[in-house]
Amino acid sequence: MTSTISEAIVGALQRTLGTKAALHEPVFAGRELEYLKECLDTTFVSSVGKFVDLFEARLAEYAGVKRAVAVANGTAALHLCLELAGVRQDDEVLIPALSFVATANAVAYCKAVPHFADSSQETLGMCPSKLRDHLDAVAERRSDGYAWNRRTGRRIAACVPMHTFGHPVDIEPLAELCGRWNIALVEDAAESLGSFRDGKHTGGSGLVSALSFNGNKIITTGGGGAILTNHEALGAKAKHLSTTAKVPHPWAFFHDQIGYNYRMPNLNAALGCAQLEELPGFLGKKRALASRYAAAFDGMNGVRFFREPRGCRSNYWLNVLLLDREHAGERDAVLEATNKAGVMTRPAWTLLNQLPMYAECPSMDLGVAMDLQNRLINIPSSAKL
Ligand SMILES: *Cc1c(COP(=O)(O)O)cnc(C)c1O
Repeated sequence: MTSTISEAIVGALQRTLGTKAALHEPVFAGRELEYLKECLDTTFVSSVGKFVDLFEARLAEYAGVKRAVAVANGTAALHLCLELAGVRQDDEVLIPALSFVATANAVAYCKAVPHFADSSQETLGMCPSKLRDHLDAVAERRSDGYAWNRRTGRRIAACVPMHTFGHPVDIEPLAELCGRWNIALVEDAAESLGSFRDGKHTGGSGLVSALSFNGNKIITTGGGGAILTNHEALGAKAKHLSTTAKVPHPWAFFHDQIGYNYRMPNLNAALGCAQLEELPGFLGKKRALASRYAAAFDGMNGVRFFREPRGCRSNYWLNVLLLDREHAGERDAVLEATNKAGVMTRPAWTLLNQLPMYAECPSMDLGVAMDLQNRLINIPSSAKL
């Protein structure tokens, strides 16, 4: 009897997990209830309270940055990051085609235009050498000091690499490239809290970067996000913009620009403080699960478990299987069989350039992103597994 690749994968997943499994579930086994109760007991549930400051301070310390500003969600964090990076109407922003839709939406909120970049097979994130060649082909540095797209006549204002499924992108050559072209570097670190490259936490290389604490991320505040930065002035500006640009005063209301109500409520920050205390434990468990997957798929024909890039310590937020190219046609059969067996799996996102609202946006060749999209499968990754 010949066994299909679907059967082999279902078998390996069931042996590894020993149970039905969701893709990513939160774990609340620390001081969540205690901190939440404190919010209720003191009535500080909303925009005032000690947990927001505490969460921001602990987050900045953990990520090794000067300042963290907690906000309502990761998309809001990205939107503010782009404003802080000076992205304006009709600018272009380089983003990976292989990302969650929020990366492109944040660009659109600034009335700017996404410009899609290809991925690397080693990191799943933006490929520095391909981006370098593309910029050499389409961009020019004008006398105003900025990089302009010669084909579209628009300024290329920012570049937003994303740490895909928690695996750190190759940030140093990207930072070097952005420096050379005077393009602002913003990191979408929504998926990579707890991931390091060369001992340095993700999100600390750009001008500013965005985290997410949505319910499916490595830690959750229910809904939430944060902006990280090593620039004090940008941190202060992020706080100001996210809190309606109100000028601090004991009783007067004065707002000195159009700000946003993007602040994180104290209730959510309380959850965040408790979750952050558990992060080291989550990381240990997720890395142990990744090792079990690596062993289970070691030597299996037609499929490979994706390991962290060289020099990196990944949070393994969402584990990744890559079918061999000759089995890409069986991807949907694998998704069908695994979900039917109660082991939740998902394909990669539809590439952003294939979504109707972004179909006309400029793009480089996306051969690697398309290849990854065709054969990538996310498998259960909760810390409790
Ligand atoms: C989760 C996520 C976001 C957005 O976060 P929300 O908190 O859901 O708004 C942005 N970018 C990427 C890559 C993400 O995975």
